[in-house]
Amino acid sequence: MAGQNQFTDLIDGSGALAAGNVEAVPDAQHSSFDAIDDAPYVTVREGMRRMVSLRPLKPDRIVSTNPKAASGKIVNTNGANTVEITGHAPGTALLSAVWVHPTWKADVVEGTIEVDVCRKRTVFLNFHFVDKDRQGNRTGLNASTVQNDLLPFLNDVFRAANIEFTMHLNRRVPAALTETLDFASPDRDKASASQLYTTLARLGMDFDKSLSHVQIWCVKAYGVEDKTGMDVTETIGHPIFPIPVTVNIKVPANNVAGGTFQAGNGHGPLIVIEDEPQASMSFRLAHEVGHALGLYTNGTHSTHKDAIMYRADTHKGTKLYKDDYRKVVLRK
Ligand SMILES: [Zn+2]
Repeated sequence: MAGQNQFTDLIDGSGALAAGNVEAVPDAQHSSFDAIDDAPYVTVREGMRRMVSLRPLKPDRIVSTNPKAASGKIVNTNGANTVEITGHAPGTALLSAVWVHPTWKADVVEGTIEVDVCRKRTVFLNFHFVDKDRQGNRTGLNASTVQNDLLPFLNDVFRAANIEFTMHLNRRVPAALTETLDFASPDRDKASASQLYTTLARLGMDFDKSLSHVQIWCVKAYGVEDKTGMDVTETIGHPIFPIPVTVNIKVPANNVAGGTFQAGNGHGPLIVIEDEPQASMSFRLAHEVGHALGLYTNGTHSTHKDAIMYRADTHKGTKLYKDDYRKVVLRK
């Protein structure tokens, strides 16, 4: 079909369009606009409006396949078409820009955009700050650094999905619970790693039984998935029986800095993350909670180098793509 790509993104940079219920789109990396398919894709938060651009042809109205979910209207300012999409209720709609052909008396479609309307979802994170492991390591993180330095980054990444992360519970873990646990040593066999993760799952459940809460263990050094002298990119997402594990890789240091364990066997999702500079940690935690929300749980990663779910942090991308939104928003 001709003219499918007439919709383009509208980035407002400063957030200047955020007045009222209009979503701010600070940059392309935090935009849900995905132009990869013939019909571009965008999310709108329930009860909000999202502006996109429409090339200046001659559409006179927007038709929605699911007006209960989303509708749109053309706002023409100084010859430039902007389309204001309103998210009414969770669901998917195809919006088409159309005009009536004067001779044929039929709608001519200029372009189509696919819209997912996202319901507000709050994700509760529990933080376990490890004060003493077998090597005596103590994490440098605490509740206020998580709150002030890490969570804002997470919320920026997932805002277009209408997901908000909040710190639910946190604790400095009593040394007696962790002083025999070895988080730091590399070159572990599967039984040793599995034993540690099983212990963390149990300690997490002792602390908070809710299976929907994400348990995050902050440790100074996480070596459990490190293999000395090995190209760790080969170890992505290997299953550690009985808990499937998705490992996040830090390159080029051949060091695994975070891991996510999918919910199962009577426990909720579990993340282990090691101390790093703030910018790296916030990026990595956003990546790991993506796994905890169900993204790439089979050991694969996004193929887009600018994606938050790319396998390595070489590009520090923060973008979510259509399939990612589909999964976290529509639970598909
Ligand atoms: Zn990963």
